[in-house]
Amino acid sequence: MSLLTVENLTKKFDDVTAVQDVSFDVSDGEFVSIIGPSGSGKSTILRMIAGFETPTDGSIRLNTSELIGVPPFERDINMVFQNLALFPHLTVAENIGYGLKQTGVKKAKRAERTKKMLQMVHLDGYGSRSPNELSGGEQQRVALARALVNEPELVLFDEPLSSLDRKLRQHMQAELQRIQSETGTTFLYVTHDQEVALSVSDRLVVLNDGEIEQIGSAESLYETPESAFVADFIGDVNQVPAVVIETTETEITVEVQSERVSFAHNGSSPVSSGDKVRVCVRPHKVTVSNADTENHHLETKGTVRERSYQGSDVVYVIETPWGRLTANVRGQKFAVDDDVIVGWNADDMHIFPAKETPPQEVV
Ligand code: ADP
Ligand code: MG
Repeated sequence: MSLLTVENLTKKFDDVTAVQDVSFDVSDGEFVSIIGPSGSGKSTILRMIAGFETPTDGSIRLNTSELIGVPPFERDINMVFQNLALFPHLTVAENIGYGLKQTGVKKAKRAERTKKMLQMVHLDGYGSRSPNELSGGEQQRVALARALVNEPELVLFDEPLSSLDRKLRQHMQAELQRIQSETGTTFLYVTHDQEVALSVSDRLVVLNDGEIEQIGSAESLYETPESAFVADFIGDVNQVPAVVIETTETEITVEVQSERVSFAHNGSSPVSSGDKVRVCVRPHKVTVSNADTENHHLETKGTVRERSYQGSDVVYVIETPWGRLTANVRGQKFAVDDDVIVGWNADDMHIFPAKETPPQEVV
């Protein structure tokens, strides 16, 4: 069942449209992330859901009740901010129990709930400490415990892990996931860090310039991106300019310089002949060979310009007439300056209208 329903949400700040006609929903118990570059409107959406910002247009419903007009403290929603906003003059336990005290929960009940929360976030025995005696990761846990203590329907997170180093961030994201599943609370998480979001979310909302590009699981966004923006934002992608030569009901034929390739039409790329498009292919779908033996649907000559080891894979940057291509391959050994053949199968590529993203550096 849908817990949160956001419909046609728009927010304008004078002449800046920060959020444009955004609609999505979040099911009860779901972990949904909103991801997008800095300035794409993520915080503004969260602030409207929390009640700190009034929408210009649209509707926000929690359990079918309209929230617009309801003051923040009357919404059954808590928010964890990037700067955590812990009270420095209160102990850890007092920080966690603060919201309960505000709503008149009795002392004994407060102590019991606070103790349970300290256990939940693995901070047993830290209750009497001051927040400034805690590490960054421990402070994160306190902020999380404080947001969960009164058992809200929904917890909103605005980039809470972005100040932590990578290792701690990965640890905390696993913790978030554990706590979310243990409490069954619904989480709406906002970040520009796709690495965190992809690993923890049931579904993701990809935002670009105030508008939704695509909504789906990490896997579906990666496997079937609906725009060059999503293909590029979710993981790495090579982009090659091409022109549509012909479309039939089942096939699209494109030309990349003088190479033609036809591939099965999946229905999600409405293009017609003459259109300028971008062919997108993931680096691990690109193969590199020193002879024309791979028999690709689409291939070109190139020269290795860079080579780097990444665990079991080798990443090559190859200069080709189509631009610089990145290939992530196993087992083959080429050196810088080697002439090679680079290619991929038609099944492994996506095509999108060229206008969607300006030409950019290949990853
Ligand atoms: P994100 O969180 O994705 O980085 P924001 O929601 O903070 O993006 O901002 C989206 C856009 O709205 C930006 O262009 C930002 O400058 C603008 N914006 C946000 N808040 C305000 C405000 N209070 N007044 C004017 N413009 C704002
Ligand atoms: Mg923000």
